[in-house]
Amino acid sequence: MDRPPIRLVGDRRMQCKDIPDAVFLDTVRSCPGTHGPSNWRMRWDVHARLEDVLGSIPDNLFLAKAARLMRRGLLGGCPCGCRGDYHLPDECQGECCDDP
Ligand SMILES: [Zn+2]
Ligand SMILES: [Zn+2]
Repeated sequence: MDRPPIRLVGDRRMQCKDIPDAVFLDTVRSCPGTHGPSNWRMRWDVHARLEDVLGSIPDNLFLAKAARLMRRGLLGGCPCGCRGDYHLPDECQGECCDDP
């Protein structure tokens, strides 16, 4: 999907803080998972559903927000987006998240 590289919120660029943590995490949980170990949600599904709630989100901003949540231990998966998978720590089978 083509997305503009920048989205303006008022007179500034949209930033990570414009994406509430709970909205991002709820969106991850709402996506259909792989149902295998760790029940991975795919990046493309998460991004599309998040945009249904918040409007257009540039790719870099989406990845930055996910990486922030991972550093804080609120989200598991691949921070750079290469694998394109996310999950909640309570679904982790030990690949990435610390013990809940
Ligand atoms: Zn990666
Ligand atoms: Zn994990």
